[in-house]
Amino acid sequence: MFRSDTQHTDTYYAATAGDRLLPRPSLAESLRVDVCIVGAGFFGLYCALDLARAGKKVAVLEASRVGWGASGRNGGQMIIGFPCGMQRLKGVMGYARAKEMFDESRRAVQRMRTLMREEQIDCDLVEGHLEVAVLQRRVADLTDWISECQQEWGYDKLRFVDNTSLPQYLNSERYQAGIIDPEGAHIHPLKYVLGLARAAERAGVQIFEQSKVESYVEGPQAITVRVAGGVQVQCDQLVLAANAYVDRVEPRLAARMLPVGTFIGTTEVLGESVCRSLIPQNHAVYDNQFILEYFRTTADHRLLFGGKCTYLGGTPTNLPQAMKTNILRAFPQLKNVRMDYAWGGHIDITMRRMPDWGHRNKRVFWAQGFCGHGLVPTRVAATLVTEAMQGNTERLDWFAGIVNPPFPGGERLGGLMQAVGMGYYRVRDFV
Ligand SMILES: Cc1cc2nc3c(=O)[nH]c(=O)nc-3n(C[C@H](O)[C@H](O)[C@H](O)COP(=O)(O)OP(=O)(O)OC[C@H]3O[C@@H](n4cnc5c(N)ncnc54)[C@H](O)[C@@H]3O)c2cc1C
Repeated sequence: MFRSDTQHTDTYYAATAGDRLLPRPSLAESLRVDVCIVGAGFFGLYCALDLARAGKKVAVLEASRVGWGASGRNGGQMIIGFPCGMQRLKGVMGYARAKEMFDESRRAVQRMRTLMREEQIDCDLVEGHLEVAVLQRRVADLTDWISECQQEWGYDKLRFVDNTSLPQYLNSERYQAGIIDPEGAHIHPLKYVLGLARAAERAGVQIFEQSKVESYVEGPQAITVRVAGGVQVQCDQLVLAANAYVDRVEPRLAARMLPVGTFIGTTEVLGESVCRSLIPQNHAVYDNQFILEYFRTTADHRLLFGGKCTYLGGTPTNLPQAMKTNILRAFPQLKNVRMDYAWGGHIDITMRRMPDWGHRNKRVFWAQGFCGHGLVPTRVAATLVTEAMQGNTERLDWFAGIVNPPFPGGERLGGLMQAVGMGYYRVRDFV
């Protein structure tokens, strides 16, 4: 069962967020609001901000700290699109709706930039994203994606980088070719989510930390949300934004999602010239392996490198060393550097990596299934959820056609099955 913490995990992000980390009060007495939101990550806070700006009285209940979950400890890569890929989305909702969602994801990236500018959220934004192929046979996947974007999604900004030109963008012999996406970017996610929380508060949202929701009951007049310590919130509408930690609050959602551990390490400060010798244009980079790795440099000139997955809980032994082993496959020139931070977090995997977004009777709303690609999709989900909460459920209902089956055997057996399945894909990443 999910145990909340009083402090952020020991990450590079928490160490560099400064006085933005000031604590907020817990819920001390019961409250009546229009909307109650469970979880202060990107999705919950976007919903809170949109609804408060629309005139709703909103309370956010966070079991730990704002941004304690995936939103405050991820790779910081802002990437358009959806984790399941556009063809799967087209398969369930048809071309026109999938195209609308692709466009919405491009708008989402712009909305994030607008929020940073208007709310003066200093979160180390760096423009540009690079996707690379490790295997020669997957270079074709890059060119196919460029063609698909041009022909189906009306997006012609992607640029192919062949093996000869790649060193201008990435100084590593591990990679064969790449795609530059100028609309992608990278950020310090904890600074961003804390800035988002401040923006929501400025719009009138009340945020309570150390306020873990234990259950909720739907009554005829109101939904009653029970919070640890015996206090409660009454509301007309509820948003479940607890992501990989939703467990007992909503077992039906938890059954359709598997919390999977994934990990990040950062090196010591390398200095600007070393960082630019690794990633000359300072892009965020990820590869197109099944078990993917992603990396970028930080504002204070470290390499931040993510990868690895655990499906059965737990953390790899000697995590800093394990992350360094992965780094050295990409950048053997870093063999003498020290690892300063290493941490893990949970992502919310659905069986076929499809979004699980919806509502029950226009009263209880949710979005999960971001599957490790949530910076931009959480903004899209919040747009659809908040417009549905205000009466227009059309676009959110497009996702009702997606069937996300429960993981057979629950978290334990489901984790084991995924581990076996991913073992197969891991082999295909090598042969
Ligand atoms: C290591 C890592 C790297 C990643 N890298 C990237 C990346 O580079 N790019 C990308 O697009 N995506 C990435 N992701 C995924 C992305 O971070 C997530 O999809 C996104 O942050 C999900 O946001 P969220 O608001 O749904 O959930 P979260 O940020 O997890 O927020 C859920 C919140 O709910 C709270 N909560 C849970 N239960 C309760 C309860 N009972 N009562 C009250 N509060 C509760 C939790 O404490 C938590 O703060 C990464 C994820 C991880 C873990």
